[in-house]
Amino acid sequence: MFDYLIVGAGFAGSVLAERLASQLNKKVVICDRRPHIGGNAYDRYDDHGLLIHQYGPHIFHTASKRIFDYLSGFTPWRAYQHRVLACVNGLLLPFPINITTVNRLYGLSLDPDTSAEFFAQRAEPIAQVRTSEDAVVSKVGRELYEVFFRNYTRKQWGLDPSELDAAVASRVPARTNYDDRYFTDDYQFMPRHGFTRMFENMLDHRNIKILLNADYREIASDVRYASMIYTGPIDEFFDLRFGKLPYRSLRFRHETHDVEQFQAGPVVNFPNEHDYTRVTEFKWLTGQTHAKTSIVYEYPCDDDDPYYPVPRPENAEIYRKYKALADVTPNVRFVGRLATYRYYNMDQVVGQALATFDQIAGKRAASEHD
Ligand code: FAD
Ligand code: UDP
Repeated sequence: MFDYLIVGAGFAGSVLAERLASQLNKKVVICDRRPHIGGNAYDRYDDHGLLIHQYGPHIFHTASKRIFDYLSGFTPWRAYQHRVLACVNGLLLPFPINITTVNRLYGLSLDPDTSAEFFAQRAEPIAQVRTSEDAVVSKVGRELYEVFFRNYTRKQWGLDPSELDAAVASRVPARTNYDDRYFTDDYQFMPRHGFTRMFENMLDHRNIKILLNADYREIASDVRYASMIYTGPIDEFFDLRFGKLPYRSLRFRHETHDVEQFQAGPVVNFPNEHDYTRVTEFKWLTGQTHAKTSIVYEYPCDDDDPYYPVPRPENAEIYRKYKALADVTPNVRFVGRLATYRYYNMDQVVGQALATFDQIAGKRAASEHD
């Protein structure tokens, strides 16, 4: 008899398994339909001995000391500041847009003051910023929007930026300084021995049993458990009864090249050419030294593994119906990017899982007190 059946061994499921087992002495069985733990953050050594991220580049960054400290219990870190180049008009320019990007694109010599003026002159005033088009055009104007954002977003989502919530493109800032880092969070690190090793350490507890290649629907009747934590797609849990929630997918093309370095930086984005959005060279992320190098191309598509919830009003409406049902489903908690239909980064999922644990622990403390 287990206290919990946890569906999904990504960040959401693994954090909760670890907390429940180690802090509340609960007996946990965690299953995943994939043949490995780690969810989309899974990494592994490929046939050439290069550490790769099977489901595309994962860079850890957080503003939260609590989240960083928690994960530090399971891995040493390697300091890593992520940088991205965008390939436009035959140039490789730093992205997000900063002063250097604009200067090199237009042959200008702006400084922090004049670059703020440059953006202000081009930004279109928009009373209520609702869409991703609004978000960018109201900051940097239409021309830079068209060069860097419009076509990339169409490729990535199969939708025009005007059809997506402002939050999507707002993930990427525009800067009136020379900072060419992708993120500015206080904590920017990669797990020194990879994400999978970190997950192995989290789940290495006598109270945790791991079942892989195991869809919960196939095993639920054979496993006795009191409560479930579900981290898969919420619409699947309820047999799509309110219709399918769109999740955008990706096809990954992994390649190994017989050179030490393939490209000029960790990630090159291709907003306006090719069917793929970006190319990642993993050695930049992992710090590995090797005579060869492995890269991955990302081709967005619809019907494959669910990776991205699609933030737009009509989908939020469908999600609300599933959420209402989830709220009245006894003994099941819905946690994570797919189960709560939120475009969350890894640290946000860890934060959500820790908050869920606090609720469970709080409830238990309250009922023990009663
Ligand atoms: P998942 O990792 O998706 O785990 C859910 C698990 O549930 C899966 O392993 C799935 O197989 C399993 N499952 C589903 N249904 C069932 C079932 N019926 N039975 C059994 N198992 C089931 N975040 C960052 O912070 N930085 C980044 O650089 C970054 N890059 C990303 C790049 C890409 C291409 C993608 C797709 C995401 C990226 N993310 C990044 C986001 C990050 O992957 C997620 O925030 C995080 O992995 C979500 O964890 P999760 O546990 O909610 O979901
Ligand atoms: N984006 C863009 N051009 C780029 C990079 C990003 O238009 O060169 C937009 C696009 O809509 C993308 C969103 O900004 O989906 C968020 O980008 P991010 O790099 O955070 O996406 P993720 O790493 O989650 O795929």
